[in-house]
Amino acid sequence: MSVLRKLFISVIGVALWLSTGVAKAEDVHSYARLNQVSTPHLELTLDIDFANRKLQGHATYILQRHDDSTQVYMDTSHLTIKRTELWVNEQWQPTKFTLGDVHPSLGSELIIDIGSVAKKVRVHYETVPSASGLQWLTPEQTAGKKHPFMFSQSQPIHARSWIPIQDTPALRLTYNATVTTPKGLLAVMSADNSLSDNRDGEYKFSMPQAIPPYLIAIAAGDLAIKSISENVAVFAEQYILDDAAWEFADTPRMIEVTEAMYGPYRWDRYDLLILPPSFPFGGMENPRLSFITPTVVSGDRSLINLIAHELAHSWSGNLVTNASWRDLWINEGFTSYVENRIMEALFGKERAQMEFALGYQDLLDNLERLEPKDTVLNIQLGTRHPDDVFSQVPYVKGQLFLAYLEDKFGRDVFDKFLRKYFDDFAFQSISTAQFKIYLQRELLAQKPNVVSMDKINEWLHEPGLPADAPKPTSDAFAKVEQQTQRWLKGAQLQTKQWTTHEWLHFINNLPLDISAENMARLDREFGLTEIQNSEIAHAWLKLSIVKKYEPARDRLRNYLLTIGRNKLVSPLYRELAKTADNLKWAREVYEQAKPGYHPLTQTVNEALLYPEH
Ligand SMILES: [Zn+2]
Repeated sequence: MSVLRKLFISVIGVALWLSTGVAKAEDVHSYARLNQVSTPHLELTLDIDFANRKLQGHATYILQRHDDSTQVYMDTSHLTIKRTELWVNEQWQPTKFTLGDVHPSLGSELIIDIGSVAKKVRVHYETVPSASGLQWLTPEQTAGKKHPFMFSQSQPIHARSWIPIQDTPALRLTYNATVTTPKGLLAVMSADNSLSDNRDGEYKFSMPQAIPPYLIAIAAGDLAIKSISENVAVFAEQYILDDAAWEFADTPRMIEVTEAMYGPYRWDRYDLLILPPSFPFGGMENPRLSFITPTVVSGDRSLINLIAHELAHSWSGNLVTNASWRDLWINEGFTSYVENRIMEALFGKERAQMEFALGYQDLLDNLERLEPKDTVLNIQLGTRHPDDVFSQVPYVKGQLFLAYLEDKFGRDVFDKFLRKYFDDFAFQSISTAQFKIYLQRELLAQKPNVVSMDKINEWLHEPGLPADAPKPTSDAFAKVEQQTQRWLKGAQLQTKQWTTHEWLHFINNLPLDISAENMARLDREFGLTEIQNSEIAHAWLKLSIVKKYEPARDRLRNYLLTIGRNKLVSPLYRELAKTADNLKWAREVYEQAKPGYHPLTQTVNEALLYPEH
């Protein structure tokens, strides 16, 4: 979709929004009117129908009335609503509903008549095969090749494509679910998963802690289970189960060091679900069961900061949650900061600094590419889809902001502040405005004249980076740069001690006028084209596109065909789209890869490859 057309749709969207007379909500990405009627508990009954690629069943909500409204407003996206019922006089009775027009990013509002006494409402529905929050994989698209696989990705506003729901992170709800699957497959959810090897096709779940709707998650497939410790297990297809359990063996220690810094882990178990390679993200912090890409199972534990990140969300994001998608930095900035602190506590300052510096370089690249208004932490989204403005800004700029505060107030003071913050806002959703009031009272006012509210406003509401923002550097990377200079003059590289991070820094910072001869020399000495580490391969393949290094072409094709993690494929498509020849080639590869890509990966990369659509 072109930028112009997108803009046009956004304008129409705002006009529609205003003309429907909806009261101005805090969260413009939801039709819910929480101040009238909210839904604090969900009972979900779903059948997973692989043959027809749909979920069908019903969602039952407890109603909490805040005024005398006789309707409840929910979000849906391309759901087929079959009928709605009310629980009145101890029985279910039919009731009327209306489904609004489809908004391109928000979906359709569902308005259900609830009268004035009903305590519960039930919606019978089914999903469509193209539901944006679900991916369905054929047996051939899995590693085992024998059974199908499906999984959800609800964040930010895709829960509504598989559950009719008040889909705003300002709501918190508990849920129970009964899920049926074909026999032999295992269903899991962001809830109390059992470690039993029962595969009878009926599974019951309970999530007793109140969570925002985007953290409701489901997956089903031919899953095996291996425990890492008493409270941590890996769920995965058999082919990768042992490798993943080895790769992530440090997870129990990560929980310990995070609890020591920021207070108790409040979610009981912490399990990891390893998804097929088409999973569009690195990880998704679904509570009790993080969803993880297999591309971080590298065999050397060098990419496990991703686990630190998803675990950190158990405090920042899942416990204290952004109230709207304009406040995403409250989830991701805090989490990137906590992730780096976990890595430092477990593996030392040098590794943490390298990871911070790599993130910083990614952020600088993003800042060059993005429109200034999209580099603001408390971003103005309007009704644009939050997926369309996904970038490193809420992550790394948010992390820099917190690192800045730590630096100004000292680690002891800042750690105490953070720990109290997680306690004070536990199981609540907060906005940037609420955060500022809290920050003023609990940190700025404690040490006057250290950081002004003007400075805080610059961080939160201005584009780009403040002039005095931290600039993360790494001594190890400085040494890599010295070696690069010597190597360009013909010396040998000393890479025996290099970690994945040092390789990434080396490749990412090679001069763009590096000769074809030097590219071939690197490849010959270090086998970079065939390297199995997904991040190093990504960096090398990206450079190979820029340098027209043909020997890497087959690997590039294979990489794009077998991985669907958007962070790894989309920069490659973006680079390929820059020349006519490469674009033609990229479109051919894309069309072949598309059936295995998640809907989100498809949308993002089609915008790069077919900008005229
Ligand atoms: Zn995150």
